[in-house]
Amino acid sequence: MDRDSRIQRLQETSNWSVVIVGGGINGIATWRDLALQGVDVLLVERNDYCSGTSAASSHMVHGGIRYLENGEFRLVNEAVNERNRLLQNAPHAVKPLPTTIPIFTRLSGLLNAPLKFLGLLNKPSERGTLVIKIGIMLYEWYARDTNTMPEHTLRNRATSLADFPSLNPNVTHTATYYDAMMPSPERICIDLVRDMELHSNALAFNYMTASDCDGTSLTLTDTLTGTQHTVTPQLVINAAGPWIDFANARLGQQTKFIGGTKGSHLVLDHPELRQAIADNEFFFENHDGRIVLIYPLYDRVMIGTSDIAIDNPDLAVTTDAEIAYFLEMTAKVFPKIKISRDDIVFHFSGVRPLPASDAKSTGQISRDHQIRTIEAGSGTAFPIFNLIGGKWTTFRAFAEQTTNVVLERLGKSRNVSTQQEPIGGGRNYPLDPESWALRVARQSSITHRRATELFERYGTVGASVAAYEGNYPATLNDAPDYSEGEIRWIVTHEQCHHLDDVLLRRTMLGMLGRTTDAMLHHIAAIMQSLLGWSEAETQAEIVRTTELLQRKHGVVL
Ligand SMILES: Cc1cc2nc3c(=O)[nH]c(=O)nc-3n(C[C@H](O)[C@H](O)[C@H](O)COP(=O)(O)OP(=O)(O)OC[C@H]3O[C@@H](n4cnc5c(N)ncnc54)[C@H](O)[C@@H]3O)c2cc1C
Repeated sequence: MDRDSRIQRLQETSNWSVVIVGGGINGIATWRDLALQGVDVLLVERNDYCSGTSAASSHMVHGGIRYLENGEFRLVNEAVNERNRLLQNAPHAVKPLPTTIPIFTRLSGLLNAPLKFLGLLNKPSERGTLVIKIGIMLYEWYARDTNTMPEHTLRNRATSLADFPSLNPNVTHTATYYDAMMPSPERICIDLVRDMELHSNALAFNYMTASDCDGTSLTLTDTLTGTQHTVTPQLVINAAGPWIDFANARLGQQTKFIGGTKGSHLVLDHPELRQAIADNEFFFENHDGRIVLIYPLYDRVMIGTSDIAIDNPDLAVTTDAEIAYFLEMTAKVFPKIKISRDDIVFHFSGVRPLPASDAKSTGQISRDHQIRTIEAGSGTAFPIFNLIGGKWTTFRAFAEQTTNVVLERLGKSRNVSTQQEPIGGGRNYPLDPESWALRVARQSSITHRRATELFERYGTVGASVAAYEGNYPATLNDAPDYSEGEIRWIVTHEQCHHLDDVLLRRTMLGMLGRTTDAMLHHIAAIMQSLLGWSEAETQAEIVRTTELLQRKHGVVL
């Protein structure tokens, strides 16, 4: 349904059982769950979907081995099982990730964490083969019921260097266990939004801010047109992530729920480093407790992340000091490989929506999620349920818990579980992708190779993209693996309103550092023809995206 039709529905419906503020993964997942239960639910996102913290993660779908240190057994248990569910429900977007820990005498205390908690380890230098094995086995034990991935392997120094020749020769062991990766998290968000589009009880908007409240009704401001709408909710879910306190202020509530921490990542175009890590994420802990990861992001390498307290999430950017630190840590693990700032093609930062805390270090703040409720009568006629924390990995479980609380308030009961609900292109996922690609290629007059590419990018939704491609087969400037038809499909089906929506969140072109001036102009021209932009509006979009890429991501075109 196009935006005009959705705006018309909004104008016709001012009373909603639930209004959700925030279209990151937690808001979207809760919106989906409530919609599936038949609740009338409206979601508003002030920017694009999945453009806040949810666009800035380490792209890991994981249980969080190190959270055991803080005694977060509940979270680890929930997260590993959610990881396994995502591998089944969204197989197009979530894949197994061999995660390798290099172990040195003076680097990587990662596995100390659970063992310290259990009192098995007192000094960081005490880590022998047996100790490492116990740590990973404990982690794997939590996933025992739903795990479909191989067990860990442990290598001695000789085997480690045979498998990873560029690794620092001072390595004593490497351990490889399995977590999962989501190379393009934004695709999962937009898949969830598209999944619910035909549900008449659910409506969602990007570029719509919850801007004001008179105590009973909310004012929503359409940030594309400036038009305002008024809605009256029975209850509100504040899913504004690290902006929760700011959003509450708009609703007339003064809160201090969030104590956010910033994390940054670099994306490098470095074939030698990419080859050195093979398909592995290298994951280790610096001696000061900071986590470093070196991650295989398509043909690029992603390096992160930091954990720095920050008050205003809008100000989060990658600093020079962070870049220097990431490069230094990578050089310690792969000293033979020359890495420089020139290899960085993109960087990004986001803020974890952690609970306000007086913990001694940011690493000790709980990564678990919780719902904080402001009851009706204290400033607003409706209660506000605030979603604090929450990993990307656990979005379904957090949404389920929130939905259960909301259903109870509304006097309703759950009739559908999301535990086995497929997501987007994970629906009707073929056992034999090869036959799927052959059939789609035949039906859409595209090559088998291209059908396979679309399947890898969109899962089974790729068939719908392929049908468009037949009419617009020309390839995109500087991106021969994207067609005009594909971009047209995205713009028509995925609520794109700005050029950066396509570059940064519907495709990986931006994040992989592939944007060129010619490409930008080509996509802008396609959007102009589909969205009816004037020449001036098209130029303004190009300027906006160019400026955004430079200011937030260090990309100079
Ligand atoms: C550096 C880093 C690495 C991470 N790595 C991982 C990882 O590897 N694996 C993992 O599982 N988790 C990871 N996480 C955690 C995970 O990314 C977050 O917990 C999760 O994305 C939070 O999602 P959210 O929906 O709560 O918040 P957000 O994604 O921030 O969504 C909130 C949205 O609310 C919108 N909003 C704010 N105010 C308003 C308003 N007034 N009206 C309308 N909309 C509004 C914002 O624009 C925003 O889009 C990481 C987090 C960070 C920062």
